[in-house]
Amino acid sequence: MKLHILRCGTMRVSETIPFGDAVSLANTRRQLLTPDSKRVTLPNFCYLLEHPQGLYLIDTGWCREISPKGSYDARAVRSVLPAPLAALYHPQVEECMTAREQLAAMGICPEDLAGVLITHLDADNTAGLRSLRGAKRIILPEDEYFWACRTVYKARQPWSLWEDLPIERIYYRGSPLGPNRWAFDLLGDESITMVNVPGHTDGMAAVILRHGSSFVLLCSDAAFSPRNWREGIAPGFGFDRKKMMVGLEWIAQMEREPGCAAVLCSHDPAVTAKMIEF
Ligand SMILES: [Zn+2]
Repeated sequence: MKLHILRCGTMRVSETIPFGDAVSLANTRRQLLTPDSKRVTLPNFCYLLEHPQGLYLIDTGWCREISPKGSYDARAVRSVLPAPLAALYHPQVEECMTAREQLAAMGICPEDLAGVLITHLDADNTAGLRSLRGAKRIILPEDEYFWACRTVYKARQPWSLWEDLPIERIYYRGSPLGPNRWAFDLLGDESITMVNVPGHTDGMAAVILRHGSSFVLLCSDAAFSPRNWREGIAPGFGFDRKKMMVGLEWIAQMEREPGCAAVLCSHDPAVTAKMIEF
């Protein structure tokens, strides 16, 4: 299988987001108000998988509307995101770099996608989804959907980005995989498995892509960098720090397993946009 790592823009966020303060509403408020001098630029990755049964996109990155000229445009961001999220993310996406635009450059239109997997409903994962309307399936864990309409997620995960799309909700089941032993095998052959890793959100999925004895782990936002699991530092943005720490231990175990070809975080500045064959 071939995995294309697509860099779909950046976000300029508080330096406490990747290596954090405790997760609390007060700290989140501070992250929204962080001056630019205390922000870091993080990439926003999504992934295109060439699988024998078709093309799968995992997450969608930012959309063109957020950054019409390819640079940071506060007014355009506000036309897509509610004010608190616009303040949190400061997103931009350079010309030709949205998922839709990069797929088009590869000769792929949304209708060619066998599926788009959404790991969780934060705006940086879903903003590009509407531009991919036409994909054969849009797949989201039910646990993520369930919580997105409740508690603090309502403010964090704007429904306007996806509520009119035909999203298919899948159910995690008991599994030997994951910190929660809760996963969904998409094609029934263990080649694409969405594994519940709670902490960043309750329902978030990491994705294990397996071919023979070799696998790639896409850990979504369970970690922002290998430093999180190698040094035991939780990210400073999420929902439940204790669960995040359990998730980081699981990622560390997975990285040590024979056959691990790569562990990728969706906002790791050390990752480069390239193709991995495994
Ligand atoms: Zn997230």
